[in-house]
Amino acid sequence: MNRWGDIIKVALPLPFPLKIINAYLIEGKKGYTIVDAGLHTTEALETWKQIQQEVGFTWEDVEKIIITHYHPDHFGLAGTLQNLTQAPVYISETDWKQAMLFFDRESSLPDEMAEFYKKHGLPEAWVKQIPDHLRGFCRWVEPHPQVEFIRAGEMIELGDYPYQIYHTPGHADGHLSFYDPKRQLLMGGDFLLPKITPNISLWPKCHSNPLALFLETLAQMKDLAVKQVFPAHGQVFDFYQERISQLENHHKKRLQQIQKIVAERGRLTTADTCFAIFGQNLSIHNLRFAMAETLAHLEYLRQNNQIDGEEKDDIYFYIKPHS
Ligand SMILES: [Zn+2]
Repeated sequence: MNRWGDIIKVALPLPFPLKIINAYLIEGKKGYTIVDAGLHTTEALETWKQIQQEVGFTWEDVEKIIITHYHPDHFGLAGTLQNLTQAPVYISETDWKQAMLFFDRESSLPDEMAEFYKKHGLPEAWVKQIPDHLRGFCRWVEPHPQVEFIRAGEMIELGDYPYQIYHTPGHADGHLSFYDPKRQLLMGGDFLLPKITPNISLWPKCHSNPLALFLETLAQMKDLAVKQVFPAHGQVFDFYQERISQLENHHKKRLQQIQKIVAERGRLTTADTCFAIFGQNLSIHNLRFAMAETLAHLEYLRQNNQIDGEEKDDIYFYIKPHS
C-alpha cells in the first residue's frame, strides 16, 4: 500500500500480461471514494478486503465509486463493490454503453468482431477463437452496477477536494480523467501511463479514428499544469508533459513504420501489417489488441489520405497511393 496524503494506491491483481491495475482510494471527511474497481476475481476482492483492514474502513464508509472507462480491469468489480457499499457508481454515458456493448451476454459484438477481423484478413484459425474469447470476459464484469453519468466540464468531489472532469478519449471513447487544480494532481486512468503506451484500438461500433482522437487529446491536455499523475498502471509520476511528447513521438514513428510497410508491399490487409510488426507468435488476447492497434494506425493514415483502401471479395486492403 502506497499513500500520498489522502490518496491511497490499491494494486489489484489481473490474470493478464499486464498483471496489475492501480485503483485509488481517496480519504475524505464524508468517507472514501474509490477510483476504478478492478476485475471481478476472487483475488481482486481479497485485495480490497486486505486494504480495508490495513486502512481501517468499512464498506459503509465508501461514499462513491468512480470509473475512468469501461475496460474490464477498471469496471469489472464495480457492481460487486456497489452491492457491498451501496455507493453510487459514476461513469461517462459513452463508456456505460460500450461496457454493455462488450460485456452484455446478449450483445452480438463478439460475432461481429470475428466478422470484422475476417474482413481485415485474419486467418480463420484465429477468427473462430474470437467470439468465445470475448464472451469469456463477461464473468469478470458481472454483476453490472447501477450507474450515474458524469460529464466533462463538471466538477466532482473526490475525498475533500473538487476535481475537474476531463474527457480524454483515444484509449476508450468515453475515457474520463480527474484534475485537482489546487494541488495539480491528475487521476489519469489509462489516458497517460509512465512506461507502457496506452493501447489505441479500433473496434467495430466504436470511434472510427481513435488515434486521431488520442492525438487530439494529448494536444489539448498538454498545457494543463500537472505535478503528479496517478495512473492505472505503473508508478505515480511527475513528468507529465515529457510523457505526452514521448507518446506523440511513439505514434508518429509507428505511423511512419506502417506507411513504409504499405509502400513496400503495395497492397495488404490489416492482418498482414499486424504480423509484419508484431509477428505471429501471439496469444489470442494479445493478437486482438495487436490487430486493433494496427488498424487504428492504418485508418489514421487512410483518413489522412496518406494511404488508400479498397474492399474486394469481402476483404479489406490498404494500398500505396498513386503518386
Ligand atoms: Zn483501459
